Amino acid sequence: MNDLNVINASQLARIRDHGAPRRGAEQGELDLLADGAVAIRDGVIVAVAPTAELLRQYGDPVPTVDASGMTVLPGLIECHSHPLFSGSRHAEYQLRLAGASLEEIAAAGGGIWSTVVATRTANEGELDSALDRAYARILAGGVTTLEVKSGYGLTPESELHQLELLERSRARTPLGLVISYLGAHVVPQGVDADTYTLEVEETLPRVIEQGIAEFHDITCEQGLFTPDQAARLFDASRRHAIPAKAHADAWAPSEGWRTAVAGGAVSAEHLTYTPDEEIREVGACDTVAVLLPQAELIYMTSRRANARLLIESEVPVAIATDYCSSIHATSLALTIGLAAPWFRMTAGEAIVAATLNAAYALRRNHDRGSIEVGKRGDLTILPFDHPNELTLAIGQQAIGGVVIGGQVIKP
Ligand SMILES: [Zn+2]
Repeated sequence: MNDLNVINASQLARIRDHGAPRRGAEQGELDLLADGAVAIRDGVIVAVAPTAELLRQYGDPVPTVDASGMTVLPGLIECHSHPLFSGSRHAEYQLRLAGASLEEIAAAGGGIWSTVVATRTANEGELDSALDRAYARILAGGVTTLEVKSGYGLTPESELHQLELLERSRARTPLGLVISYLGAHVVPQGVDADTYTLEVEETLPRVIEQGIAEFHDITCEQGLFTPDQAARLFDASRRHAIPAKAHADAWAPSEGWRTAVAGGAVSAEHLTYTPDEEIREVGACDTVAVLLPQAELIYMTSRRANARLLIESEVPVAIATDYCSSIHATSLALTIGLAAPWFRMTAGEAIVAATLNAAYALRRNHDRGSIEVGKRGDLTILPFDHPNELTLAIGQQAIGGVVIGGQVIKP
């Protein structure tokens, strides 16, 4: 019986869901409730109210968390991660810091391709442990729902196998996993992009038949997949009725944002180099822009995604860690703190970006992303009396507790 009361929260951020992701002036609206309380019964939220009022109806003896002096958020949702990999790329980062270019790194055998090689040759036990280690750290960072991608296999068999490993890992973590097929991550060595695009198209029916992946993630990036090739993959997604996501404009302006929105992508991620002009031309849309501050930091990009312009343009914005073989960021709470100065997002905007808008980016808005009656009892508790404190707590272990489906996971 997953029954729980959380009471006495200094501030409870309800982030009420009005049936669409938050955008524009509403992006930062947290719907704070002082002295807030939540009642969860059978894993589902049944009441949200000031503590005294809530206890009048739900004062039965159930496990109770006293959140005095704390802030309660909807469970954080990490909507962009690649935790299934082997090998390490710490050495190539040192080379980049010393001035090496991406081309030089690739020529020396580094980059995503080196992870593909290491992952293809790793045994299942090693990959399972890599996943478990990542899940434990991501959970400690306050996350309750996690999107995980394949994409370090790049042959039909190895991609399907990675999806299977991700599916099997569900039993080993309390995190709610959302699995994406990222066949079009990069173009494998020795194959041209057109041929590989066709191979991904042909693999898609097998991915559907396998029934594990909920999303088809497609890269549109200069030097990898052109807008035409990406558009073919978006069409294939539509034909096979699997919702699409996009990796777009991470390294160069690549018409990724425009192509993703035209292709009906649920979300498009990175957008570091999306030109302002393209954001203005595309204008308001339902595609969630998922921005990745740690990726921009570690990749030392020469510009940042223009979060302010996206928000002004009525585009819903989400944020994520981009945990992957070259970015070992596991704290989404830290990502929220960083997004504030990095993108000039307010605490409210960044928190909505990692909760309700991230839920929309994963099509999980029906049952999570806000603290409302009928949604899952997923909460992230912060050891601060106001959510704004999160943006001042960079580097602090800023999690007071995690509740998933009414169960206290990390008291
Ligand atoms: Zn990624």
